[in-house]
Amino acid sequence: MSLNSISHVKIAIDGPAGAGKSTVAREVARRLGIKYLDTGAMYRAVTLKLLREQVPLSDREKVEEVLKRTSLDVENGQRVFLDGEDVTAEIRQPHVNAHVSPVSALPEVRRRMVQLQQDIASRAPGIIMEGRDIASKVMPDADFRFYLDASLEERARRRQKEQRERGLHLSLEEVAAEIKERDRIDSGRDDSPLTIVPGAFVIDTTTRTFDQVVEAILNVVRGNRKE
Ligand code: C5P
Repeated sequence: MSLNSISHVKIAIDGPAGAGKSTVAREVARRLGIKYLDTGAMYRAVTLKLLREQVPLSDREKVEEVLKRTSLDVENGQRVFLDGEDVTAEIRQPHVNAHVSPVSALPEVRRRMVQLQQDIASRAPGIIMEGRDIASKVMPDADFRFYLDASLEERARRRQKEQRERGLHLSLEEVAAEIKERDRIDSGRDDSPLTIVPGAFVIDTTTRTFDQVVEAILNVVRGNRKE
């Protein structure tokens, strides 16, 4: 791709929890000078709102009603404002981790999030978006599709490290059980399950360093490598 077209590139990154999508996507965005969006943060913010309002997920009308009066803004791709309040730290807490996948399986929630994400994509010249349904649903016209994966143990180890840095001390077994359950729900839901789309570049990050994964993606985007 030429430098000019790179500034307008649309890149989709999907994969399970802890595969390294966020850190890698943020760095690729910085290196290419394009926008970055962490779509998981948006699902987390909606989950927080429904938890605060104690909405039973079986009450779909109530979920719709709450969604209608919820405002969600994302700054710099990752800083999330829920009805004007910065909830960036709170959406990473265990109570949100525990409920985000069931909330994200609701078609009402997905419809609203996909619409917001597509609006953001349409306003950005170039963007790298990461989540679970980016290539399959949000940006099916993406120029490049990547699927990042890693072993469950490695993903749990990474999440545990991130959580420790935020002052949360959970055992490796607890973290592994939590992400395994999220993977199960995210991959098994009817609406936009986590999947590898045809033509996606699959990168197993288990034994690769952060720099190697970033370089692998940049090489594909810059046309230095065909897989
Ligand atoms: O990426 P992260 O682990 O923060 O995502 C939290 C949850 O949000 C996922 O487990 C999944 O249930 C949901 N999600 C989704 N679709 C996306 C991004 C996230 O369903 N595009």
